[in-house]
Amino acid sequence: MQLLKTIKEVRDAVAAARRQGKIIGLVPTMGALHAGHGSLIQKARADCSFVVVSIFVNPTQFGPTEDFNKYPRTLDTDTRLCESLGVDCIFAPLAEEMYPQRNLTWVDVEQMTKGLCGASRPGHFQGVATVCAKLFHIVQPDRVYFGQKDAQQAAVICRMVTDLNFPMEIIVCPTVRERDGLAMSSRNRYLSSEQRKQAVCLYQALCGCRKMVEQGIISTSQLIAQINQVITTAGVQVEYISIVDAQTLQPMTSLTADALVALACRVGTTRLIDNMLIFLNPPRFQI
Ligand code: AMP
Repeated sequence: MQLLKTIKEVRDAVAAARRQGKIIGLVPTMGALHAGHGSLIQKARADCSFVVVSIFVNPTQFGPTEDFNKYPRTLDTDTRLCESLGVDCIFAPLAEEMYPQRNLTWVDVEQMTKGLCGASRPGHFQGVATVCAKLFHIVQPDRVYFGQKDAQQAAVICRMVTDLNFPMEIIVCPTVRERDGLAMSSRNRYLSSEQRKQAVCLYQALCGCRKMVEQGIISTSQLIAQINQVITTAGVQVEYISIVDAQTLQPMTSLTADALVALACRVGTTRLIDNMLIFLNPPRFQI
């Protein structure tokens, strides 16, 4: 496995793989890798003959009061995990490599980035879409792997790839959870043991929502009220709970199309997100 820090090195490595007729898979990450990232890497490994994992804590997607400086950076253990999963190449650039001068060019995916996490994180999805566009141009993968855990991010990137004709396929993989249902996240390590117990209420609230839908409730305000009650009863602060069209991310008043139930909460100062997809035909949940 190669650990590469410069754009030229990764371009050369991918070009060599391409000359051998290999299919290139990319898994973009910010590192602090866990089994959720591992599932994306395994899927890429199964589908592709050359797998690149990018590890880059992208400064342009963090707000001024967010956790950019304290975001966990664990390149040594990340490297070992990637090696054990058969990754061909890690691309771990410094910020100066990705942004050698002040960036003047940005990718803005409109409408879909205004609600959900976009409402409390202005500029976040502009940073995400721009760094993904840069990574896609640098690596030029055939397939790129994202997690359902970050549902809005996955939907925004799918739209960017369609709108801007990036010649690649986006694959969205299911959320990997801890045994009690908490979605794996690099930020879970910020939680105290008491907070870690509280945090399971996000998953429990989504499971309660699934039960109500199974019982025939289609009013999204009713479903949201129930989710809110489960979470606040656990002593966790709700940032938002939204039920939106799974493709367009626009709010729905009742479940008349495939829907995304998405939420963000604060457990102490740690911001956690989770979500569930509801498919109508045939009826199915992805949580
Ligand atoms: P991050 O390093 O948090 O930017 O995440 C990198 C990629 O891993 C994103 O596509 C995430 O959606 C995905 N990911 C993070 N956590 C999980 C999880 N628990 N299950 C599946 N994918 C995940």
